Amino acid sequence: MVAGKTDHAAQASTGDRLFAKIGAFLTANRLSPDPAHYSFAHAVLANADGLLARRVAEITDGGVRLTAQDIVRLGGQAITGAPVAGATDADNDDDDDRMVADPATHQAMIERVLMQIAGFDDTITIAHAEANNFGRDLERSAAQMRDVGPAASAEEIGRLTNDMIARVHQAEERLDAARRETEELRAALDEARGSARTDPLTELPNRRAFDETFAGLDRERPVAVAICDIDHFKNINDNFGHAVGDRVIRAVAHTLASECGCLVARYGGEEFALLFDRIGLDEAAERIESARQAITARRLRVRETGELIGTVSFSAGVAEGCPGEGRAALMLRADAALYRAKDQGRARTITAPHVGETCERQVA
Ligand code: GH3
Ligand code: MG
Ligand code: MG
Repeated sequence: MVAGKTDHAAQASTGDRLFAKIGAFLTANRLSPDPAHYSFAHAVLANADGLLARRVAEITDGGVRLTAQDIVRLGGQAITGAPVAGATDADNDDDDDRMVADPATHQAMIERVLMQIAGFDDTITIAHAEANNFGRDLERSAAQMRDVGPAASAEEIGRLTNDMIARVHQAEERLDAARRETEELRAALDEARGSARTDPLTELPNRRAFDETFAGLDRERPVAVAICDIDHFKNINDNFGHAVGDRVIRAVAHTLASECGCLVARYGGEEFALLFDRIGLDEAAERIESARQAITARRLRVRETGELIGTVSFSAGVAEGCPGEGRAALMLRADAALYRAKDQGRARTITAPHVGETCERQVA
């Protein structure tokens, strides 16, 4: 069939052109012909009028080359180069194998929301222009009917009516598209909001989320806070590498979260803050101590070599809030208790004395 062949030939030449453009794009930006780069280039070039293509054009205007960061920001995938070495494996601990979000994904998410807002803006502008045109056309049609008066033929009225119905359908479709885009935008914003309060390594709430939750507490009820800091963590990094260190942080994070039944936030590098709402000092300290024993009992190994990492433990300081005491003062007392736990030999939980008292205590 000649027509089929012609279609096929046309498709092939469109494909060839796109392929050539992708090659030129990769060369111009000095990007390796990696599948991730290729797929990013495809996304840019397959829709030359799309938002992504426009954003890339803005960045590369004047011959500027795209950086790896630009690509990640625009939703592409980073090329990490060498495979990540030295991840650890933990006995019976599949949950530590989850993918870890790259910090750059926060930026990529914001970029995506901004692109969606731009797209939504376009749709609304078009819908608005069409509504205006439609209003004018309706007026024109009404005037035409008035002019023709009783002499208007059924055919004439039918044509005008059909025309109006088609326009109404078009407007409905536009509004439907706008509604869908609003929903997507809302979902993207929810995701971005969540990611701003989440630590990408552990997927736990971050410091900001901790502080916000504390601010929303009903301070009429008991509250305890704790700071847990992994012991001699620098040695783990030094002996087994940063990737293993990261994995140990995740293992401790997940143990704390599953054992303590409270808000566990990553507060700093190898430091976690715990918020026990409606829970007093003793109960909080007991839960932390059982988490500490659980992580100590685990036999973490280097994944590639099976080498044992050795005992992983943390020290903790716990403090119970007193009436009127702000977050900063309470955290400071927990931190002082943590300091004493470190000072007294690590691998222990120390409770801070209540305000006005001096008796601190090591939890057995
Ligand atoms: P201590 O028992 O006194 O707490 O000793 P430490 O070695 O745990 O404490 P130190 O403050 O000396 O070292 C903490 C190390 O944690 C230093 C820093 O490079 C490392 N670190 C911080 N954040 C991360 C992270 O996200 N991943 C990894 N792998 N290491 C981190
Ligand atoms: Mg520390
Ligand atoms: Mg430490």
